Amino acid sequence: MFEDNYRQRGLRNKLVRLLRQKGITDERVLSAIGKVPRHVFFENAFLEHAYQDKAFPIGEGQTISQPYTVAFQTEKLNVQPGNKVLEIGTGSGYQACILLELGAVVHTIEYNRKLYEKAKQMLPKMGYRPHFHYGDGSKGLPAFAPFDRILVTAGAPVVPDALTEQLADHGILVIPVGDREKQVMVRITKKGDELIREDFDYFSFVPLLGEKGWKK
Ligand code: SAM
Repeated sequence: MFEDNYRQRGLRNKLVRLLRQKGITDERVLSAIGKVPRHVFFENAFLEHAYQDKAFPIGEGQTISQPYTVAFQTEKLNVQPGNKVLEIGTGSGYQACILLELGAVVHTIEYNRKLYEKAKQMLPKMGYRPHFHYGDGSKGLPAFAPFDRILVTAGAPVVPDALTEQLADHGILVIPVGDREKQVMVRITKKGDELIREDFDYFSFVPLLGEKGWKK
């Protein structure tokens, strides 16, 4: 259905080397990025952008995240094979493919109907089969909780309580939190009744919408 040729594999390896230079050290994450064909998410006219380290529009005012951002969030999430992972913000579906490459059982939820439909059609054709959900992920996905890992790929005004409540014991939530322009990457680890918060670098995500997110 799609081509993954020598040149594209070469560009992907180059991207992996760049991410390593930028400080990504988790070999499993780098290997997943080396495997998932990111160019498949791009229109033909924009193929040369696929392996550059930048975010790119995917329609509906949304973006496929920058590869460095995907690598950074995934590294902080520390996914183990067999983990049940909730991704909030399916977007193109690229990040969901990376999580599947790490051996996770992936639930991914998207608020935009067109993007949800598109990813749901496209990923199985590439051999990737997450569980797709349509709706407001700012409230989590209580019917399928608890999750070992929760990854939010849109910028939130606060850490929604619903998400920490839906974490399993020893679970990890990675979420960008801040204003609409800039967010700090937050990791929350649940240990019994305790929530341990760590703050990392600043990033710039499209806003998390919905009940516990921004109001449009
Ligand atoms: N993970 C995506 C990928 O790999 O392409 C990139 C995600 S994009 C930066 C953020 C996505 O979050 C958008 O597709 C947006 O529609 C979605 N989104 C925003 N608010 C949401 C919400 N409350 N629930 C679910 N998805 C939401």
